[in-house]
Amino acid sequence: MWQITPIHVATQHCIRKGMLDRGDPSDAVTRMDIPFICWLLHNDELKLTYLVDCGPDFDNDTNTKLHQPMTMLPEWHIGERLAAMGVSSKSLAGIIATHLHWDHLKAVTNLPNNIPVFVQRHELAYAVASRGKSYGKAYESDEPNPFFLRCYNQYHLLDGDAEIASGLRVTPVPGHTAGSQAVLVETEKGRIVLANDVINVLENWTEGILPGNVADFDAYHRSLETLKKYELEGWRIVPGHDFRVFTTLAPLFNAIYPPQN
Ligand SMILES: [Zn+2]
Repeated sequence: MWQITPIHVATQHCIRKGMLDRGDPSDAVTRMDIPFICWLLHNDELKLTYLVDCGPDFDNDTNTKLHQPMTMLPEWHIGERLAAMGVSSKSLAGIIATHLHWDHLKAVTNLPNNIPVFVQRHELAYAVASRGKSYGKAYESDEPNPFFLRCYNQYHLLDGDAEIASGLRVTPVPGHTAGSQAVLVETEKGRIVLANDVINVLENWTEGILPGNVADFDAYHRSLETLKKYELEGWRIVPGHDFRVFTTLAPLFNAIYPPQN
């Protein structure tokens, strides 16, 4: 069985509408704090450790300039977090990229450059095609050497549903981006779906308040149906940018990092 440890690596002070679009004009000007989260998956029997997403790189100033204001102390970076947790980044069997947005993958440039990165083939194509387009901002695709191409040698491209290891699968959930994937983990605490940016915060799921950061609404609604199917089968849907992962949802995980008192 797998153990999941969510790791807090940064806090973004983002426009609320991106997370919760209630149609209220105040959502476009009010900020809310959201966490950037990486998920450490470990399986003792299989002696395997994976990371789901790896967060932003060390360059806080550039990240704040290119995107929205954020806070990331040096010791919050995933490389530092793993070291503090006693996990060697060299021991990672792979990084599962839910999608290639900067807040989920950019730290790959600070980690060993031979770790396999599992991503949907469609997501990589979509990221490459984003150059010059408004949705390219989150891929930094107008930069001369965007981060998601600097790890091209690490990609293991997936076409749809795939088993990464026993009890660990991915399934496509497009909508936030064209090639987003959710991660399905069979854990000691139950069956968990890491929905990431399809369900940013709980209210996207429990109250049906859509996030504003959707690229394709038709695909997004189909992905909600996919998640609904898993929930009916007993899987728990976990949001990707919600601080409650570290509080009320913490019992779903083996541990959280940093630990809270
Ligand atoms: Zn995100």
